[in-house]
Amino acid sequence: GGGNDDARGDAAAGGARAGAPRWARRFGELPISRRTLDALAHAGFTRLTDIQRAAIPHALAGRDVLGAAKTGSGKTLAFLVPLLEKLWRLRWGRLDGCGALVISPTRELALQIFDVLRAAGCRHDLSAGMIIGGKDYAAEASRIVLMNILVGTPGRVLQHMDQTVGFELTRLQLLVLDEADRLLDLGFDRTLSAIVRALPASRQTLLFSATQTRSVRDLAALSLDRPQYVAVHERA
Ligand code: ADP
Ligand code: MG
Repeated sequence: GGGNDDARGDAAAGGARAGAPRWARRFGELPISRRTLDALAHAGFTRLTDIQRAAIPHALAGRDVLGAAKTGSGKTLAFLVPLLEKLWRLRWGRLDGCGALVISPTRELALQIFDVLRAAGCRHDLSAGMIIGGKDYAAEASRIVLMNILVGTPGRVLQHMDQTVGFELTRLQLLVLDEADRLLDLGFDRTLSAIVRALPASRQTLLFSATQTRSVRDLAALSLDRPQYVAVHERA
């Protein structure tokens, strides 16, 4: 331990006041914990991609973010780094329940996010689980009630919110809607509305999409509060 780990209160306050530097090119230049930084370095991530550079400082400052960047641009860490830092700064612990929920259109994409979360979050003392359905509903229900971070698909998340005794999202701090365009293409708009309406209004929300469509803007209007719009376009 040591280093930044002992100063998370200062880092959080400084980050909120001054904001993370817009010019940051490397993860090491962001006001993030030593734990996250070490895990990222261990996984081979040192330089920020363009969408990470544009989105992470706003997300670390607590703002809602509407992020647009093409597939393969690094959107996963653009939301997972702020997610880990939010719970770290709040000193979120095993007994605090679910602090962050990531919604993904498919099981395969949820699994990919979970793998990146495992790598980036390996130095944190946070539990994480998946809500992707498929096999045993009861087994999934018993696993997810104590998790600090959940990654899931919309239908299954709503089903557990409605039916699973002890599954509470009343303390949720951060919601991520990933691949919003695909979520809507797959017909999840009503499911997402029902989920969003049931979550605490005080939460922070990050919404990422490869494309900007009318329905993505509608979902953003429903789920985000005064969002920072961040778009990264391909260079000519
Ligand atoms: P998207 O969600 O935008 O499609 P991903 O988050 O899946 O993109 O990332 C695409 C690829 O880029 C992955 O292989 C990931 O490991 C890699 N990647 C993401 N961020 C970085 C980074 N900062 N440095 C190097 N590679 C990265
Ligand atoms: Mg993605």
